[in-house]
This record gives sequence, C-alpha cells and structure tokens, in this order.
Amino acid sequence: MEEIKKAAEKYAILNAAEYGKACIKAVASRVFAEFPEARKSARDVIEVIRKVVESVNSLEREEILKLAKKYAPEEKKEKKKHALPELPVSGKPVFRIAPNPNGPLHIGHARMVILNDEYAKRYNGELILRFDDTDPKNPAKRPVKEAYEIIREDLKWLGVTWSKEIIASQRLEIYYEHFKTCLENGIAYICTCDAEEWRERVRKRREACECRERDREENLRLWEKMLSGNLREGEAVGRIKTSLEEKDPAVIDWVAFRIVDNPVHPLFEGKETPKVWPTLDFASAIDDKLCGVTHIIRGKDLAISEKRQKILYSALGWEYPKVFVFGKIFSEKYVFSTSKIRECIEKGEYSGFDDPRLATLRALRKRGITPQAIRNYIISLGLNENETKFDEEILYAENRKILDPVAKRYFFVKEPIKIELDDLPFEKVEAPFFPRKDSEKRSIRLSKTVFIEKEDFERFKGKEVRLMHFCNVILDEKAKVTSVENKDIPKIHWVCNPIEARLIFPDKVYKGYAEENVKNVKKNEIVQFERVGFARCDEKLVFYFAHR
Ligand SMILES: [Zn+2]
Repeated sequence: MEEIKKAAEKYAILNAAEYGKACIKAVASRVFAEFPEARKSARDVIEVIRKVVESVNSLEREEILKLAKKYAPEEKKEKKKHALPELPVSGKPVFRIAPNPNGPLHIGHARMVILNDEYAKRYNGELILRFDDTDPKNPAKRPVKEAYEIIREDLKWLGVTWSKEIIASQRLEIYYEHFKTCLENGIAYICTCDAEEWRERVRKRREACECRERDREENLRLWEKMLSGNLREGEAVGRIKTSLEEKDPAVIDWVAFRIVDNPVHPLFEGKETPKVWPTLDFASAIDDKLCGVTHIIRGKDLAISEKRQKILYSALGWEYPKVFVFGKIFSEKYVFSTSKIRECIEKGEYSGFDDPRLATLRALRKRGITPQAIRNYIISLGLNENETKFDEEILYAENRKILDPVAKRYFFVKEPIKIELDDLPFEKVEAPFFPRKDSEKRSIRLSKTVFIEKEDFERFKGKEVRLMHFCNVILDEKAKVTSVENKDIPKIHWVCNPIEARLIFPDKVYKGYAEENVKNVKKNEIVQFERVGFARCDEKLVFYFAHR
C-alpha cells in the first residue's frame, strides 16, 4: 500500500499542477494502470487515493508547482499526446459539416463539428456548412426556423470557420435534376408498390418488383406525375437500383425521393411547400459531389449512408470522398435529444435551451465553459470509432487549465454565518487576484463583522483557522484573533462588508454574500470564487456556477 500511496501522490501532484485541482478519477486510473493487481482491493485503494487527493488539493498552488517539478523529468518520457492522426491529403481538402437545424448544438454534435474544423484548419482546406433540412414530415426531426441562426451562433462561438454555406431545402431543383438523370440512365426507377409488401418481397425474399423493369419513358412520366402533385404520399417513391444480393438489406434499392402529403417546413412559410423530398442520403451525396468534398468525417451511425452513396457514385462514375468515422458521445445524465429537450421546455421543466442542467453548447457557455476547453476535450478523444460517455469532469479539467491562470479570485460565501472578531488587526487587506508572486492585487475593506461559510463554521468551530489572506482566529460566534502570520492551518474564505450576489448551480440557487469588489465584475467575465469554484457573470451580481 505504501508504494501505491507514493504513486498516488505523484499522480495527484502532476494532475493538480496541470489542471489546477487533482481529480480522484484521473489519479485512480493512472494508479491502476501502474498497479493492475491493486484492482483486487479497489475500494481500499480508492480510499487511499481520495485522502491523497484531498491533501494535495489543500496545498497552495506554488507548493504544488514546486513538487510537480520534482516529478516532471520522469513524467515527460511517459506522456503520450493524444493528438489527432494525420489524414491522407493531396491538394486542398474540402470538409463539410451537416447539422440538422432542429435545435441548438450539444456536446455530442461538437465531435462532428470540431473534428472537421480542426482538419480543415490543419491542412489549410475548406469547410462547408450544409444545413441538412430535408425532412418536413417527422415532427422530431423537422427543421425549426430559429435553429439555423442558433447553429451559426453556436459554431462561431466554438471558433469554427466555414467558407461556404448551403441549405439543402433550397436546392430541391438541383436534386430533382440529378434524379432525372439517374432515371434516364437506368440507375433509378419509380416504385409504386405498397411499402410493406415491397419490403417483404424485395428485401426479405430478394425478388425484384415489377417496377424495376419499367422503361425510361414510363419512369420519367411517373416522376413528372410525382412532381406535379398527382400522386400522394405512399403511392410512389424514387429508388436507386442496387444489386439484390447486397448483404445489408437496408441498402437494397434505397429510397432517394418520397412524397410528403402535409409537409411542414419553416423556409417555405407563406409559400407553397414542395411535396417531393429527397432523402438525406441522396441530397447529401449530390451536394458532396457538387461542393467538391474530398473528406467525410462522420458518425459511425452513418455507415449505411456510405454503403448507399457509394453505389450511386459508382453508377454515376464519380469518385467517393475518403471517409473517416468516429463513435458518438453519449450520456446517461444529460438529455441530448432535441425533441425531448423541447418537450421539457414546453412543460416548464427546463428554462430554455441554455438551462444549466443541459449539455447544449449554450448551456455550457452560460456556465463559463470555454470553447477552447470543449475543443481540447473533443481532440483528446481522438479520431476513432469508440463510443464515449460524456465525462464532464474531463471537460472541466480542460476548462480549469485554461481559466486557472486568468480567472480573478474573489470571496463568495454561499450560506453565510456571522462571526465577530475581538480585534481588527488592520483596516484593509491586499489580496492577490492570482496565486503567483507578481499577481495584481485587490483591496478588501475589513470590519470586525465577518461572514463565513456555514459548513466551515460547523466543521472548524472552536479550532484555529486562517481567514485567507487576513488573520488567524479561534473560530466561534465571538472569534479570538490569534495572529496574522500565514500558518499551516486550515484556510477558509470569508466576506466583510458584503454585497448580495446570486450563484446559480444547475440544481440550486444560492443568494450569498460576495466581497465588495465583485460589483466590478462585468457581464461574461469568468471568475473564481475562492474554495467555491469558477463562475460566469451573467448580469451584474448574478453568476452561473461552472465547476470547482
Ligand atoms: Zn415496386
């Protein structure tokens, strides 16, 4: 156990040096990697690690950095960077992102967006933003008017830059034209079978339906009939011809066009909404070709699209872009489904798409998670097919690394308890904004009346503690000042001459006391409340909590 404790100390120090605070999970994973046999007594080991992490996290920043230096040389050799792998590229590559504009982006979308953006930037290529809005039928996937602009805003905030934007629903004529060519070339046909019967016959029994044998003129006539509104939903679909021997039945004679009887589409409001709509696979296949896309980086769940589109590309004599696949990010804690979130907002369970309990980019932004932290987190996952559970602690660690050197420290007491000092050693104190020697300082007016955290009061009552940057006291309602020198005793935060501020946690709102200087914090500034955590100023004296 002694060896394990030593290793835990080392990893906790390094982790804290890098991220501001050591995280039990991170330390544990390294300890278990070094001592696999320790898993047998995991519970005891975790307990040891927990104590080590706690004691490391109570150290001053300077102390941590000093200790980290001791371990750094051996650590450097071991450390592997999870940078993204190189892609095969010749010339100027073209990437694309194709969000469905039915709501804001969430952390799961960030993987698709950031991987494409990162690679486009790395190879000096182009990134195309393509709104994939060709489903006017399914209420859960249907595009929403505001979502186009919301997504543009989310992308800009993430630092994504695109050179061209296209909106699929505004390109129907282009898709119609290409499908007509497919009909003329015999690559596609109009199928008038009942969908159920067709599936049973063609996909299960692998027998062709009569429609497959229709001649060119008949196909074109039926296509015109579809476009002119003389056929109803379910009476005909446009199919791309494949081999009936395709391994995956879902690929066989896939649907490229369908009729929607009562289409609802926000970009056709007040106009007649078209009734013949391409499927995602057809529209995006055509757009990728027309936009000169060379590399597709997309979710593993779209593997079927690749199979379908490759058949179309080869029939048209086109070269399919290079494809790279990533696994999705999932979560048991956060709701990702846009339609589900919308439903909860309508019921009043969430305050909006930026409710702090959500993992939408706007919710994370509201709480003070920086776009760079999200980018670093996504890059750290790499480019691979592994599905990843969204681990906010890793995201927070990235955020802490960015904010710790720049977020000004202030005092904030969530649940204030009043104590009276028996003496006031000085009128004001200069406290550093940052835990470094050359830090800028803020001046805090002092008084004998001091407010401290209820939790600290209960924990340390009767004991000597240090009011951080101020003095040492024997803690009680009437507190005795013992000295002013910095000693190795528990440090607590405190407030004199308080002003009221609200600190909003995902599940709770604190109306607490902040030091006077907090009134100078401006909207959108992210600060660090000593011993509480990072928070973003949403409006004057209103803060959203990010993390510790
Ligand atoms: Zn048929």
